[in-house]
Amino acid sequence: MSLKTGDEYVESIKSLGLKANLMGQKTGNLPENPLVEPSIRAVAATYDCAHHAETKPLFRVRSTISGEEINRFTHLHQSTEDLMNKVIMQRYCGNVTACCFQRCVGLDAANAVFSVTYECDREHGTDYHQRFRDYWSRIQLEDLVVDGAMTDPKGDRGKRPKDQTDPDLFLRVVERKPDGVVVRGAKFHQTGMLNSHEIIVMPTLNMRSGEEDWAICFAIPANAQGIRFIYGRQTSDTRKLEGLKLDVGNPTFGGQEVMTVFEDVFVPEERIFLNGEVNHSGLLVERFAAYHRQSYGGCKVGVGDVLIGAAALIARMNGVEKASHIRDKIVEMIHLNETMYACGIACSARGHQTLAGNYEIDMLLANVCKLNVTRFPYELARLATDIAGGLLGTMPSAKDLEDDVVGPYIKKYLAAADGVDVVDRMKVMRLIENLVAGAGSVAYLIESMHGAGPPMAQRIMIARQADLESKINLVKEILKID
Ligand SMILES: Cc1cc2nc3c(=O)[nH]c(=O)nc-3n(C[C@H](O)[C@H](O)[C@H](O)COP(=O)(O)OP(=O)(O)OC[C@H]3O[C@@H](n4cnc5c(N)ncnc54)[C@H](O)[C@@H]3O)c2cc1C
Repeated sequence: MSLKTGDEYVESIKSLGLKANLMGQKTGNLPENPLVEPSIRAVAATYDCAHHAETKPLFRVRSTISGEEINRFTHLHQSTEDLMNKVIMQRYCGNVTACCFQRCVGLDAANAVFSVTYECDREHGTDYHQRFRDYWSRIQLEDLVVDGAMTDPKGDRGKRPKDQTDPDLFLRVVERKPDGVVVRGAKFHQTGMLNSHEIIVMPTLNMRSGEEDWAICFAIPANAQGIRFIYGRQTSDTRKLEGLKLDVGNPTFGGQEVMTVFEDVFVPEERIFLNGEVNHSGLLVERFAAYHRQSYGGCKVGVGDVLIGAAALIARMNGVEKASHIRDKIVEMIHLNETMYACGIACSARGHQTLAGNYEIDMLLANVCKLNVTRFPYELARLATDIAGGLLGTMPSAKDLEDDVVGPYIKKYLAAADGVDVVDRMKVMRLIENLVAGAGSVAYLIESMHGAGPPMAQRIMIARQADLESKINLVKEILKID
């Protein structure tokens, strides 16, 4: 049953029969909708990689729960090597899809929930950990995609959940039953939500005493009753409806974010992994965020490789490849990209075993990794824009290229270096445009800023983890100050 192919995965999502509000219409058959299809193809690539001879060894791993061979995207990390392989795998997926392939968030949620439930049980005598093991074993064996849902709407950012005018602005328990709970609220910006079989919901904040109803973590099937999906727009998304692959930029793959509303959804007891233990909610937020901050040292780097390649290729096509400042700008792009990768690898290499047995990254280095990611892709995008030229923002459409009258003018005047096909040049321009200002920039830029928390969240963690006092003591020791 495990290790689905991409096609088998797509069929399994179709069988869920999910519907979403999309551009004003309640829409079914989402995997075949032109706005959604590129995103499901990107997830399908993570399945196919587990079947290709050259990538199989990286994408396949043995489950420590069942002993079966599973996809690494469902793995509970067992060593620092596993943590590093995760980052290497993510970079590879970014290389292949040039977009967000949407499968890391569930993996990061699982590794966090695995260790936090263990520690919660030890303190509170609960039995969440065994429940989660049973649940996750099924996810591994059926090779499912799980959406990691942390971000609440949050309302007035200056107020606690219980002090909001509308208490539903943070997802909460509204009713407790003998066999489960009823929850209400919403989760925003959900990556790959409609390409997921399951959802793991986590609190978004470190909850405090009196906020027990908001300290809830659970898993629910994506097609459970009471869940409503509202599809997020992306820049230039309607180009996907025009049937002109050239104008889309990334002709095959894309990302997806969804607003997800929980309208009194019943969650059975066996799917609840935290329920009012406020002191473990912060730990869960911190761990999930750290794993996800590590993830960006792989996925964004993989997409960065494509952007660097596109910048170098367009420089060649434009005839400026050998100019010293262009070469230097490409080197700068590589330097920034590899710095992010180095952080992703470093926080993995310096990881450690949790009490539950799985491996966790180094918190400080994972936060340094993500803080770099909030800046470097923007600089990569700026340099690519510089190198590509203004045509990046002004190029005529593929439809005009086909026009009998103006098409020949486009071909004549978009000619650049000898021997370069004009349409190929347009394709590279559009791919760069996609990443720096089009649909792909949602994941490459805006998600780099906000995904796994905005820069301030990383700064807070860095300040907390850096042990400044020990650095002061170094000085005192050197200078013999008491
Ligand atoms: C493309 C994309 C994909 C994403 N995918 C997922 C996903 O799959 N799952 C998921 O759970 N989340 C996801 N996120 C959500 C992401 O984690 C949030 O966007 C992020 O945590 C920021 O929250 P926010 O968007 O509500 O912004 P805000 O919290 O409103 O932040 C905006 C600014 O306000 C500041 N701020 C906020 N609160 C305070 C405060 N109390 N005091 C002082 N300053 C404050 C912040 O530092 C920031 O500068 C995704 C986001 C994006 C953009």
